[in-house]
Amino acid sequence: MIHENKLIITVDGPAAAGKSTVSKVLSQRISYIYLDTGALYRAFAYKASGYGILPDDERNLSELCEKMRVSLMRIDGDMSILVNGEDVTQKIRTEQIGFLASKISAVPAVRKALLSLQREAGEKGGIIAEGRDMGTVVFPYADLKFFLDADVRERVQRRYLEMLEKGDNADFEEVRMSLIQRDQQDMSREISPLRQTDDSIFIDTTTLSVEEVVETMAGIIEKAIKNNE
Ligand code: C5P
Repeated sequence: MIHENKLIITVDGPAAAGKSTVSKVLSQRISYIYLDTGALYRAFAYKASGYGILPDDERNLSELCEKMRVSLMRIDGDMSILVNGEDVTQKIRTEQIGFLASKISAVPAVRKALLSLQREAGEKGGIIAEGRDMGTVVFPYADLKFFLDADVRERVQRRYLEMLEKGDNADFEEVRMSLIQRDQQDMSREISPLRQTDDSIFIDTTTLSVEEVVETMAGIIEKAIKNNE
């Protein structure tokens, strides 16, 4: 393996399973980079929608891939995402953009365009990479793989409350429909569908607090880091 003593850790799972929250906390705790790959697909969807490109318009999406320069920057300790110089970090955090990202992420040219960026960010190790295909496609040789899931009712509730807290005008039923459809799309697409690998550690977060999930994962990670020294 190319990386020295620093692990590649992957976290996959469906929407609102708690992946981002725990990955962020864990990466700070062990001083690893946190790679939010959903943000990359969201940024892409945001730009495509700005240009009025429909999610099934492969030709224009491919062209957009060539024009888009996505970069991740650490600003004030937090990761910001820039597209052709524009900071889109906050603008991409809506369920509509999440839904659009799910549609667009099924297009092979889009996945191909984002693959090398993700691999470059993680190849040296010292990373917690979070998304849908981290353990299956982007880092199949990762040192440690997690798969997080929770009951759909709990996931919808979490996403709904998160939106209300942000001051968004959220409708519970709309959030429920969007999340369910997004999961179906992500699991059934031909290229890089969401699925759990045999070598991943499964955690059901339905009845667990963020702290409990973090503690469970931290115990496993710390052991793996020690074994790797
Ligand atoms: O995780 P997040 O909700 O930000 O992801 C938005 C969408 O981006 C997902 O529904 C999924 O379709 C897509 N995605 C993906 N592969 C990843 C990460 C996200 O296809 N590695």
